[in-house]
Amino acid sequence: MLISGRMSVRPILIAPDPRLKAVSDSVARVDDEIRKLVDDMLESMYAADGIGLAAIQVGVPKRIIVMDLDQKEGKKRPRIFINPRILWNSEELATFEEGCLSVPEIWEEVARPARIRAEFLDREGARQEMEADGMLATCLQHEMDHLEGVLFIDHLSKLKRSIAVRKLQKAKRLKDAG
Ligand SMILES: [Zn+2]
Repeated sequence: MLISGRMSVRPILIAPDPRLKAVSDSVARVDDEIRKLVDDMLESMYAADGIGLAAIQVGVPKRIIVMDLDQKEGKKRPRIFINPRILWNSEELATFEEGCLSVPEIWEEVARPARIRAEFLDREGARQEMEADGMLATCLQHEMDHLEGVLFIDHLSKLKRSIAVRKLQKAKRLKDAG
């Protein structure tokens, strides 16, 4: 079988798509098929102007996350996390305004542990450990929530969440009608 070097942009699922609630499975082996998925996820994330994407957001229930928080002057600095696990988190919280490619046009503040230590597999399947704070810590926790079927709006108060869900439903109705 030929493996072309071409990447393809995959469509991103939008809430309330029920597939976003799936709990993703661990990756048993990091092989060329997984690397192709990773490349497609990066391409899809860049095409959508995102900074992070979990595989379930393109409909694949595998524990894979891609991120790039440092895109500058057209230079890319992709990060890849396969089977990520949080080993430690600070009690101190940090609040960032979060958005999500699967929850368009909604931005809300979410408080999460300010610092974390995580382990994961890299693109070659080698185990890595990383300490993170700031945007990197928040983004990794946001993306790891996707692996459990959790969206950032699930962290909001009942009232704020119901407003967000109504906005999403209205946007979907307009899209379906158009
Ligand atoms: Zn998200």
